[in-house]
Amino acid sequence: MTRIYIASKGDRAGLAALFRAALPDAEVMIDPSEFGDRPVSFAVVGRPDPGTLAAIPGLEVVLSLNAGVEHLLSSGEVPDGMPIVRMVDDGLAAGMTEWVAAQVMAWHRNILPYVRLQAKGTWSPFREKLASERIVTVLGAGALGRPAAELLAHIGFQTRVWSRTARPVAGATSFGGPDGLRDAVDGADVLVNLLPLTEQTRDLIDGPLLTAMAKGGLLVNGARGAHVVDADLLAALDSGQLSLAALDVFRTEPLPSADPLWSHPAVLVSPHVAAPTHPAPAVAEMAANVRRYLAGQPMHNVVDRNAGY
Ligand code: NAP
Repeated sequence: MTRIYIASKGDRAGLAALFRAALPDAEVMIDPSEFGDRPVSFAVVGRPDPGTLAAIPGLEVVLSLNAGVEHLLSSGEVPDGMPIVRMVDDGLAAGMTEWVAAQVMAWHRNILPYVRLQAKGTWSPFREKLASERIVTVLGAGALGRPAAELLAHIGFQTRVWSRTARPVAGATSFGGPDGLRDAVDGADVLVNLLPLTEQTRDLIDGPLLTAMAKGGLLVNGARGAHVVDADLLAALDSGQLSLAALDVFRTEPLPSADPLWSHPAVLVSPHVAAPTHPAPAVAEMAANVRRYLAGQPMHNVVDRNAGY
């Protein structure tokens, strides 16, 4: 019998119930005391504590509840050769697309400045631009970057996407590889980051990259805090090179109370909520991969350990 251990920290019982419904022949466990001496082939994880995976007998596959798996790769807890399957599902993509669109549209139509003017009782219209007058660059054309870029292009923004390999995205201009980055960002009004965190992308969003944007622009970071050099971001905000940064992710989470990002007037902080994993579609995806694995078929969304995502 297939045995699955839910090793995540949230609602284990709820996930287990969904797995039992999706895979009625499987034994689904939420406590290591249930392991016994028979192998447990699949583990469902978020950010497992050290030693969690090593304690699972006969583990073959790690199923991640998260799209980003840099913490699993750097932990050294997943043995070489053991597949890690990252989370890709429609709920995640829909959530991120909504969050990105909300941030870009709020900045584009001056929602925050008008809220501040309202507080002072001031009637003072800005010159409102059309989306077609703005350039938006999305870093990453994957499961999350592609649908976000497609929606922004559909709204009417001049949309560019940058990925490792240039990929066609409906309505957008595509750029690829390190040589394409500057062209993708040059003169952009909005920079949306939806890259995975790897050795190549860590600290990518630094002073020179922000300076390549048009003056007074918006940074939207929905990926990982370590993509952004915070000191350079604060300098760009203070100089007016950026007018706003909408940040969902931070180098340290929760964001420490003393961090200057909390109180900066041109920073919008959200607590890593852009694209939460929704249990039902997530379990449907993981159960489909369990079935594929048991049938000897290739699983979907297996992490490329060499690429780091
Ligand atoms: P994905 O499907 O793997 O897509 C990653 C994209 O980034 C691909 O287009 C890839 O290029 C590109 N890329 C990777 N390395 C690159 C490099 N060195 N240079 C240029 N492009 C590069 O990932 P995803 O599912 O869209 O997720 C992206 C990230 O979002 C996750 O890793 C996670 O950190 C973050 N996330 C955040 C939240 C939240 O709530 N804030 C939720 C979910 C995920 P190729 O197409 O050429 O491979």
